[in-house]
Amino acid sequence: MLLGVSAVLSLLVFSASPKSSAFAKATADKQASAALGNWYKGNLHTHTLNSDGDSTPDDVVRWYREHGYHFVAITDHNYLTSVDGLNALHGADAKFLVVKGEEVTDRFGDKPIHVNGLDPAGFIKPPGGTSVVSMLQNMVDGIRTARGAPSINHPNFGWAISAEELGQVQRTRLFEVFNGHPTVNNAGGGGVPGLEEVWDRLLSSGKLIYGLAVDDAHYFKRPEDKTVPRPGFGWVHVRAAGLEPRAIVDALERGDFYSSTGVELLMLESSASAMTIAVRTQPSSKYRIQFIGRQGAVLSEATMSPATYTFKGDEGYVRAKVIESNGKVAWIQPVPVGTSAPK
Ligand SMILES: [Zn+2]
Ligand SMILES: [Zn+2]
Repeated sequence: MLLGVSAVLSLLVFSASPKSSAFAKATADKQASAALGNWYKGNLHTHTLNSDGDSTPDDVVRWYREHGYHFVAITDHNYLTSVDGLNALHGADAKFLVVKGEEVTDRFGDKPIHVNGLDPAGFIKPPGGTSVVSMLQNMVDGIRTARGAPSINHPNFGWAISAEELGQVQRTRLFEVFNGHPTVNNAGGGGVPGLEEVWDRLLSSGKLIYGLAVDDAHYFKRPEDKTVPRPGFGWVHVRAAGLEPRAIVDALERGDFYSSTGVELLMLESSASAMTIAVRTQPSSKYRIQFIGRQGAVLSEATMSPATYTFKGDEGYVRAKVIESNGKVAWIQPVPVGTSAPK
């Protein structure tokens, strides 16, 4: 969406003329959205028998391909599962892609510190560290050196990473606002904030970071067992130039995606002045579309799709959340607004 904003901005600049205005803006919006590419659904956090999953990479990839996903990232603990053979078997142009990844995994004292590296050029050895923040930073930097995209995983798992610690990590744009593992404490508790509140704290403090929803699936052979991490609970829809690893990773790092536990959008447009969302509604469900700003304040709430929020200019950032009447959610990534915008 950041690209969306800048693309629209630049198109508006080039089309500025006395008679531009509504028509020029509509044209610019259309051109910008056409330039942004296609939407692809994928899961970015998955385990196989190469770490502590219960299924082979082949079975895991097959599950995602057969359940309507366009891509899956294999992220075994401290192991870079090869994806060449998987793509030869399951990949297809514009239809399905396996992205390589690694969950760089360590502990600081009793705190599990896990950072996903998405599409790294090679294996990343856990680099250690002298504090939670330094271990996170060393992992992020190691992933960057390997030309991967870092994502900080499940901060509340083992109550390992506080909002304050997360806020100190540099050179990362992604963290998991939702992880489908049943014991990662997404909602917080006992005085520890839930991850959506953590997200707003980070954004309000000036750190631009995007929230992923992921499965963290380990068990594909126990579909009825609610006590184990299974597939199909959290995913992203990414707007990318094409279905290839760099295009997906680049779109994630510029926030051109939304995260979901079951809500799908028909349309998502952010210009320099507004955000518009249209939901693919289900006949028996009802929806709330919330536009959210600094410190998590709800700036406006719509009950009908599509919904537009026009920026006032002093919000700092605007993100959106769609809540379906059975609890399914989509999280739309924040757009910086105004002079106090997160960077
Ligand atoms: Zn983990
Ligand atoms: Zn994991």
